[in-house]
Amino acid sequence: MSLDGKVAVITGASRGIGAALARMLHARGVNLGLASRSGDDLGLAGAVAQPCDVRDLDALTRLCDATAEAFGGIDIVVANAGVGAYGPFLELSREHLDEMLDVNLKGTLYAIRAALPHMLGRDGDVITLASEAGRRGLPNEAVYCASKFGQVGFTRALDHELRERGIRCTNICPGGVATDFALDEGRGRTSDVLPGMMTAEDVAEVVVFALERPRHLRILETALRPMTEAAWG
Ligand code: NAP
Repeated sequence: MSLDGKVAVITGASRGIGAALARMLHARGVNLGLASRSGDDLGLAGAVAQPCDVRDLDALTRLCDATAEAFGGIDIVVANAGVGAYGPFLELSREHLDEMLDVNLKGTLYAIRAALPHMLGRDGDVITLASEAGRRGLPNEAVYCASKFGQVGFTRALDHELRERGIRCTNICPGGVATDFALDEGRGRTSDVLPGMMTAEDVAEVVVFALERPRHLRILETALRPMTEAAWG
């Protein structure tokens, strides 16, 4: 199915998986609303980009409203913005605990809540960038797993509400991806951890595959992992 002329809002679009996806969708003729704290438009002509923290529902609403006004509605929302910090539960700071739940879980709810009113009545897609950490408990990732299981559960349950309205809900669950995110606390801050991981483009291609399926088919969840199994698998 061609995506040409569709309208997509992507959170966490300034770097990593979100930026790779924005570039791929732009190349396919998709009109974009891009959210990140930096407000980077990636140099993509015509994109609506605003500085937008996904912990702020009002900021997300402003971005979605501006995108819908510019392009006549929204067809696709990708809740992708995310942060991670790893380590034993008791050693995680209160700030890390709050940030992971607020950005990863509440930020997903907020992004979808802001976009959905503009999607009703259209053949839409809700894409949640979850993780392998939303499918199984991983050591030293208890809070990150909690946020990712939350995203997965929310999106699966939302599917019951939205399928009858013509909107598909898909969880994308990657293992380790070589982005800035991969260099976060607990994993190591050197590029030594990156070889063998998947690329942001690998993940973005899977999202595009799900979006391009004909409308009689919906992909509920995809799990993708690198061939080199390791701590980040
Ligand atoms: P990344 O390269 O670190 O990019 C994260 C993006 O999120 C950036 O664009 C960042 O932009 C944005 N962001 C962070 N906090 C934000 C906030 N409060 N409000 C708005 N935007 C915010 O990460 P990534 O690897 O692409 O990760 C994308 C998603 O994939 C995340 O949900 C992550 O949990 C998931 N994931 C990643 C991996 C991995 O190994 N990399 C594996 C599985 C799943 P600004 O800094 O400009 O705000």
